[in-house]
Amino acid sequence: MDSRTIGVLGGGQLGRMLVEAASRLNIKVIILDTPPNAPAKQIQATQTHIHGDFKDPYKIRELSKTTDVLTVEIEHVNTEILETLMNENTVVVHPSPSTIKLIQDKYTQKIHLSKNKIPVVDFIEIPTKDDLSIAIEKFGYPLMLKSKTLAYDGRGNYLLRSEDEISNALESLGNFKIPLYAERWTSFTKELAVMVVRRANGEIKSYPVVETVQKENICHLVIAPAQINGVISEKAKDIAEKAVLTLEGAGVFGVEMFLMNDGHIYVNEIAPRPHNSGHYTIEACETSQYENHIRCILDLPLGSTALKVPAAAMINVLGKSNDLQETLRSCAESLSIPGATIHLYGKQDCKKDLPTMKPCAEILKSFDVPFELSIVSAHRTPNRM
Ligand code: ATP
Ligand code: MG
Ligand code: MG
Repeated sequence: MDSRTIGVLGGGQLGRMLVEAASRLNIKVIILDTPPNAPAKQIQATQTHIHGDFKDPYKIRELSKTTDVLTVEIEHVNTEILETLMNENTVVVHPSPSTIKLIQDKYTQKIHLSKNKIPVVDFIEIPTKDDLSIAIEKFGYPLMLKSKTLAYDGRGNYLLRSEDEISNALESLGNFKIPLYAERWTSFTKELAVMVVRRANGEIKSYPVVETVQKENICHLVIAPAQINGVISEKAKDIAEKAVLTLEGAGVFGVEMFLMNDGHIYVNEIAPRPHNSGHYTIEACETSQYENHIRCILDLPLGSTALKVPAAAMINVLGKSNDLQETLRSCAESLSIPGATIHLYGKQDCKKDLPTMKPCAEILKSFDVPFELSIVSAHRTPNRM
């Protein structure tokens, strides 16, 4: 298909699914991440991956020496060295390091979006405790306090409900060691997401607008297409594409949004990479977000982003605190649902000990949406390697 080799910074589940898609196209991928058995390394286990930190400039340079195109499956990488390598012209980097850098800082990202007239909720920088008082006065309680950087899965967010919680909130967010900002609390009716794909030549396409439900800040459920009217759906797609057009570089971008009761839509944040809310595209769309990411960064023709089925759902079932048997039993039960597919991440442990999810069948039965396929269950399970 293509003789170029792709280097991926990060070896988690998104990297794993990228390697799966690349391997079908017979495209070689080299993963850079610390654990020798990182989820993405398990797929092409005979491949010489690099064991090292995706923030380590020396390791990133080493990766660039054996690859033609570098990309990321996580945004918290070292962008300075990516910039240097790009300027040295020895390797192509997608998306652009400047885009990754901009997105790494959620506050800078919000400034950028609002400058480009993309609707975002009101926000304010909180360099000191005094600024927090100003924010409280302006936005009232509850107030969403957020770390500007290093945030994921809600780590870095604190929902401040009253004055009594201020010292707890600041303590848990590192007492300004990581810079903070605040957002107005948004009482959205739904959370939406759109995966936008952009080829190196500028061509752009979007996947259907999906509905996402977070539980304890982790994506729990995705419904595709979102159960919203066509006008709202077009508007969400339009905003997502406009937002991605303000960023440089090729690849897949996950645009998270809030839908308000009155039809207003705000962009929450953008991920410059495949996104958990796009897992369903593997089985339910004509081309998965992972294959399209590869096509984008290699500047190959983009695949169709259309749904192949009337509706699809993805449930993210977290493993039960390292109890492999219990987790696998729940996976096996979900196989009894017609069209269900399971994707196991092959992670070493379950970092968050959340209560076991209800079996997928039960969760799906609770919807009044007619699903004709289709569950993609992404399970976080201990690996067997
Ligand atoms: P991710 O893992 O997606 O990168 P994150 O750690 O960057 O997440 P956010 O996306 O900022 O965190 O927030 C996580 C969730 O918290 C959102 O999906 C939404 O459910 C809720 N949330 C975030 N900001 C607000 C807000 N201003 N008002 C109401 N809810 C919010
Ligand atoms: Mg985030
Ligand atoms: Mg988010």
